[in-house]
Amino acid sequence: MTAYDDLMAFDRETQALAQIAGRLGWDQETVMPRGAVEQRGEEFAALESVLHARRVDPRLGEWLDAIDDTTLDTVGQAQMRHIRRSYARNTKVPARLAAELAKVTSMAQGIWAEARAKGDFAHFAPTFEEVVRLRREEAAALAEGTEMDLWDALHQDYEPGSSGAELDAMFGALRPRLVALRDKILGADQPKGVSGTFDEAKQLALSEEVARTFGYDFSQGRIDKAVHPFSSGSGQDVRITTRTNESDPFNCLYSTIHEVGHACYEQGIDDAYLLTPLGAGVSMGVHESQSRIYENQLGRSRAFTGYLYGRMRDTFGDLGIDSEEAFFAAVNRVTPGYIRTESDEVQYNLHVLLRFDLERDIIAGRLEIADLPEAWDARFEADFGVKVDTIANGCLQDVHWPVGLFGYFPTYSLGNVYAGCLHQAMRGALPDLDADLAKGETGAATGWLRENLQRHGGLRTPRETIEHACGFAPSEVPLLDYLEEKFGAIYGF
Ligand code: ZN
Repeated sequence: MTAYDDLMAFDRETQALAQIAGRLGWDQETVMPRGAVEQRGEEFAALESVLHARRVDPRLGEWLDAIDDTTLDTVGQAQMRHIRRSYARNTKVPARLAAELAKVTSMAQGIWAEARAKGDFAHFAPTFEEVVRLRREEAAALAEGTEMDLWDALHQDYEPGSSGAELDAMFGALRPRLVALRDKILGADQPKGVSGTFDEAKQLALSEEVARTFGYDFSQGRIDKAVHPFSSGSGQDVRITTRTNESDPFNCLYSTIHEVGHACYEQGIDDAYLLTPLGAGVSMGVHESQSRIYENQLGRSRAFTGYLYGRMRDTFGDLGIDSEEAFFAAVNRVTPGYIRTESDEVQYNLHVLLRFDLERDIIAGRLEIADLPEAWDARFEADFGVKVDTIANGCLQDVHWPVGLFGYFPTYSLGNVYAGCLHQAMRGALPDLDADLAKGETGAATGWLRENLQRHGGLRTPRETIEHACGFAPSEVPLLDYLEEKFGAIYGF
């Protein structure tokens, strides 16, 4: 056995244990008995301490020193890139700081929920300051010996190789055209929404059918209900969750398609990479590109909604909508709102851009926590044209910052930008795409994604993954062109 073989065997066991931890998390959100919370907490903590010990095991350092990456093939070199990065990251953060962060962020979640319910920012502010202080300390440890600033250092956990400066240039070009588009849309006549009550069992059955249509493999996956939709797992066991709302059938349907996009990415990765660092989605941004292209560019397209209109009428009867065209408009309605997770394709990125700018200021120390509500509200009014009414609809709406997730938000918009690029490349390669989608056939589209992107897993860096699939360098222009054309057609300008 060479040092490389020893390292890969050791890492494989760590990967397997991490999959088990993920499945415990799935279980907790879906079928775990409520009375098991305390014991589950202890089970999690035990598994986490085993995982942590393996991730900083001194033998890893010895193997890494002994391996000359240049003697390995492309796949081996890619595996090493992932393992070296993780090891450097895990050994840079002192155990004391990691433990303190885990403790404070888990406590912070409860206090944030109380503050949000009471509409009282001051109730959360001291804890929030503590979370930020610890994350900045962690960022400083991670940034040591690199060129990165603090925010960039945190961002690497979600989007390796990406930087705040690069995103700033991309988002700076997105923002004015999105604001202008939102203005035009909200000044136009609103299309009608669907009406009726939509039986829960029928919604779930239709969602399952649509998941199959989009290529989700139920022999290595399953759908369950949960409060928040998510996908979980890699390789041969990739599960998703969904939720229903009796008055809004699109919630279940489109959150299912979104998670199917994430799950198909994981299911599509080459079997040869199973339980290795290459055997999972390469970054949050690339992951989100898959969920969003399934959900939006394919699932909310004029062609596919034409097919869906028929299936919805077969399932639910009258929808209060009398044509495919009107149904397409109903699916894509843009309405004012404060909440990111309820937002449409046009306004969604404005929500993310706001968070990106504010969190960079917070982490850089340019914005005090006490001044956050005011800064949030001013920016919201500038981009959305409405005043924030309550703090629960303002800066306390998302759980990300309270649990210390800084550097994460922009991956949502990066995913949308990447989806725009992939969609443009896909249309170039598949001239019959709309004719297929109109018949509910997604095989050519999902096959294109699998062949050009999904199967490669973590072989390339995130940005190279997109560039390899598209044949051009990623840019915000395809997404903007797509949005202006689509919503111009719906809203008549
Ligand atoms: Zn997602």
